[in-house]
Amino acid sequence: MKILGINPWIYDFAAFDFWLKPYGFLGLLSYIQNQGPEITYIDCLEKTIKKDKFGRREFYSQAIEKPPIFSQLKRIYKRYGKTPEEFEQDLPDKTFDYILVTSSMTYWYPAIFETLRIIRKKYPLTPLILGGTYVNLCYKHAKFNLDTKTFLCRNQDLKYLFNKLNLKYSQNHMLNTLVKYQCFYPDLPYLVFRTSWGCPFNCSYCAIKKLSSGFRNIPLKKLINYILDYSKKGIKDFVLYDDAFLYNTAYVKDFLSEIKKTAGNSIRFHTPNALHMRYLNKQVCRLMKETGFVNPHFGIETLEPRIQKDFKNKVNTSQILKGIDILKESGFTPGNFSFYLLLGYPGQDLSQLKKEINFLHKKGARVSLSEFSLIPGSEIFQRYRQRFSEPLLHNNSVFSLIEPSNLETVNKIKNYTRKLNREFD
Ligand code: SF4
Repeated sequence: MKILGINPWIYDFAAFDFWLKPYGFLGLLSYIQNQGPEITYIDCLEKTIKKDKFGRREFYSQAIEKPPIFSQLKRIYKRYGKTPEEFEQDLPDKTFDYILVTSSMTYWYPAIFETLRIIRKKYPLTPLILGGTYVNLCYKHAKFNLDTKTFLCRNQDLKYLFNKLNLKYSQNHMLNTLVKYQCFYPDLPYLVFRTSWGCPFNCSYCAIKKLSSGFRNIPLKKLINYILDYSKKGIKDFVLYDDAFLYNTAYVKDFLSEIKKTAGNSIRFHTPNALHMRYLNKQVCRLMKETGFVNPHFGIETLEPRIQKDFKNKVNTSQILKGIDILKESGFTPGNFSFYLLLGYPGQDLSQLKKEINFLHKKGARVSLSEFSLIPGSEIFQRYRQRFSEPLLHNNSVFSLIEPSNLETVNKIKNYTRKLNREFD
């Protein structure tokens, strides 16, 4: 059996390869490949123009026409990654039994539709299967807008999909499958991996429970061998995609102790998905320092107790302050750890946000402002679902929930935060 797997473009006002890989999709393709089928893979985002010392890259981009809903915005809407001509040239002149396409951000759906249109033109008779985050979170929108010949595969449809492919399916085995990057990316500047799936929390702005239920760790020995293997192949930067890496303290201690013993200081870890401050303890933090965690990022979102409660109490301010002490005692000096604060959530007091930025800066933290976006399936989204049924409005670059009169203040706060962070450089 021959399968073509495709990761579509990004259409947006801004995009950067901040260690972006369609990890779930690559795991699924690896799981399929392990059972025999031949996989051909194309990533439309694999056209970049610059790379930094940690492997992060700037995408090649071209200006494209804005969807009418954004016509009033002065910003340039772009396609990130290969040109359509390059993508068409990459599509092999052979037949496939199935074509699998993934999707991520819900508001990138115009890019997905364009990818599907080009695929359909080239392979009019091949069964086309679309899965991923957009399909899981905006199923009705996808169903309404795509032709009935495209099979929409949500996570709960995977069993049916594997039946159709005449392959075995075990969710457990699939989630434990480690991505065979050498089969997908000839040039790999960094490696994205997970030690776990799922998250024990249920933050009101997050839709994790719709995408990944429960919490489970990947078998430790298998994972350690995998990391060492890629480290020997020359990969230096390893990027944790976990949603709750620190949650299972015993597993984390074993994982980091094993890495310390076997990999020494030959690798670096990055945490763009954020870590949970409430599970940071001295032993784990010291191990993080010793195993090469670079500028660990923690998701704290706000210091306001009322909002912390509304977000479902992931962390409180005393845990944050204790965590800062632990970080410093473990050798993470000022400017070498970061906190995500949310910018633009409903009813946010921007003057309070500025106070929080100042407070955290004085404590030695870099602040990463994370622009709030409404995620379908989250509790907060339910409050606004009538107004934001159009997925393009979920885009955090558009600031749909910020009053236009506050936009100037928002930009000032962003510039101010950058200025403070530069003081640590
Ligand atoms: S935001 Fe993070 S901590 Fe909260 S539910 Fe989602 S993944 Fe878990």
